[in-house]
Amino acid sequence: MNSKELYAKARTLMPGGVNSPLRACKYVNSEPVFIRNAKGAHLFDEDGREYIDYVFSWGPQILGHQDPAVSAAAHEAIDLGSSYGAPCLGEIELAEAISRLIPSMEMMRMVSSGTEATMSALRLARGYTGRKKFVKFIGNYHGHADAFLAAAGSAAATVPGTPGVPEEVTAHTLLAQYNDLEAVKALFAENGEDIACVIVEPVAGNMGLVLPADGFLQGLRDLCTEHGALLIFDEVITGFRVSPGGAQVRFGITPDLTTLGKIIGGGFPVGCFGGKREIMEHMAPLGGVFQAGTLSGNPVAMAAGLATLKRLAECDYDALEARTTALTDGLAEIMREKGKPVTVNRIASAFTMYFNDGPVTNMAESGNSDSEAYAAYWRQMLAGGVYLAPAGFECAFTSFAHTDEDFEKTLEAARKVEF
Ligand SMILES: *Cc1c(COP(=O)(O)O)cnc(C)c1O
Repeated sequence: MNSKELYAKARTLMPGGVNSPLRACKYVNSEPVFIRNAKGAHLFDEDGREYIDYVFSWGPQILGHQDPAVSAAAHEAIDLGSSYGAPCLGEIELAEAISRLIPSMEMMRMVSSGTEATMSALRLARGYTGRKKFVKFIGNYHGHADAFLAAAGSAAATVPGTPGVPEEVTAHTLLAQYNDLEAVKALFAENGEDIACVIVEPVAGNMGLVLPADGFLQGLRDLCTEHGALLIFDEVITGFRVSPGGAQVRFGITPDLTTLGKIIGGGFPVGCFGGKREIMEHMAPLGGVFQAGTLSGNPVAMAAGLATLKRLAECDYDALEARTTALTDGLAEIMREKGKPVTVNRIASAFTMYFNDGPVTNMAESGNSDSEAYAAYWRQMLAGGVYLAPAGFECAFTSFAHTDEDFEKTLEAARKVEF
């Protein structure tokens, strides 16, 4: 069956034919292609077409698809058994590797998705402080747990409100614009002793890529310390992406708790939350904050994650950042020559090209981008063999598997785009 036939069948079995809403490609007025396999920086669909990938499963595959060391580690692990529901060596090895690269994560717990990691970190922050409220930024996405589904980014940004989440559940969710430290100060002034934590994407990746303004993260750190609230960095995207130690090492700001996912699973379902030992010791069975998971610490995922971190230790982040800068400069210049104003936000191997004049520093400015132009760009890039995120408010990722030829072909496809 080709993609069209598969999509028709999928729609009879799954809402919208997909298991995660953005995959339906509604926001680029298109239909999904079904992927048969992937290798390096390339995807191959059921119609026999090949694409240069800039989605990489929404971030995890920073080494490219089927990295030989990661695949070998996963195969080796699965030959020993796929799940035990009991402790195994792989959990210790991955936790040690994470702690070495992100020293603030003195102690951690593995879970099976980023959603579980943030949901559990919030519960721990509330349990530890005995407070109910927390601060979240408009356009930041922390997975789909109820408490976070207030002005969330990513696919949730496209839903006007979220049926199924009672307002009582988000009553303790305080909102501020990203990069607006004054707004957070005001929330603390009003609710200071009731705020358990501030959770933030230290580089926002779910309203398009948005960088933290100078002093923003340090300001959050200071406010949390002053008011006895915990600072949670949601590094599910930024962990091992914006530097080998994530955003906190790159910017030199130490959160109390960190959430990880995506890259640390090497393409398998994983999440992780951790931080100060003294806080983490409040988790059951040591402490009273309950959290559990049948597949947590899954041996295959642990092995793939560890192999990924080992491979990343040999990768040149600076070189990839420089190549990504050249690529995005090239894309922006091509669009401007076509009379389309664009703004490129980028860091390391992640970027978003907004179809607007910029600057883009928060959700309001990100939302003020020409979605018709993005949709036209997306469809023509796909036809030209380039697979981008099917929504203008997501970031694109480069990988250590992209060759200069891949980037040159991407620029060639962009030159052919017509508006
Ligand atoms: C993807 C993402 C999540 C959710 O992770 P899942 O594995 O999809 O549940 C949480 N936070 C951020 C910043 C993310 O990008």
